[in-house]
Amino acid sequence: MADKKENRIIVIEGPSGAGKDTIIKTLMQRYPERFGKLVSVATRAMRPNESEGNPYHFVTNEEFDRMVENGDIFEHTIRHGEKRGMSERYILEMFNANKIPLKDCDIVGVRALKSRFANVTTIFITADKKEIERRLHGRGDQPEDIERRLKDYDKCILDAKYYDYVLNNDDLEKTIDKIIQIIS
Ligand code: ADP
Repeated sequence: MADKKENRIIVIEGPSGAGKDTIIKTLMQRYPERFGKLVSVATRAMRPNESEGNPYHFVTNEEFDRMVENGDIFEHTIRHGEKRGMSERYILEMFNANKIPLKDCDIVGVRALKSRFANVTTIFITADKKEIERRLHGRGDQPEDIERRLKDYDKCILDAKYYDYVLNNDDLEKTIDKIIQIIS
């Protein structure tokens, strides 16, 4: 049997408001058998309206540490004492279900994925900064969050060069078509 680590993984990254979530959701709705959303493992408390797997696989601090020790979690960050990481187990589960994992992750995560898996395709989604500002307002983000996200935009966009493809998401349908083309 072929090594599962040869199966394809797609990374969708880009500045906040560019449309990553919308793209991932659209792909999953249209092709539910083909794609799965790869979710990180996190130790933070679950908030109201959240559930296991949405937006994280929630585990205790001890469980998290054990997953790091046994090599399942192969990349993680700690912020304000809360840990978040990528687990190989959930990727292999998707491979076994013949699904392509879709993941939004930064360049550090991309490097970790590429060192562990042979077939990682990375796509950076962009949009004009003014348009991003409009979208963040349209999404109902708080003014202070919009300000922070627009500040992060300039830094985030510098990483575009590290990705295999850069797609301008002016038109969602065209973006989806291009991603399907890239995959086929
Ligand atoms: P991200 O996950 O990158 O932060 P979202 O997917 O939440 O971005 O999209 C931000 C907002 O922009 C959402 O309100 C979404 O409906 C809208 N949006 C996404 N793609 C497009 C597009 N191609 N054209 C116009 N609006 C879009």
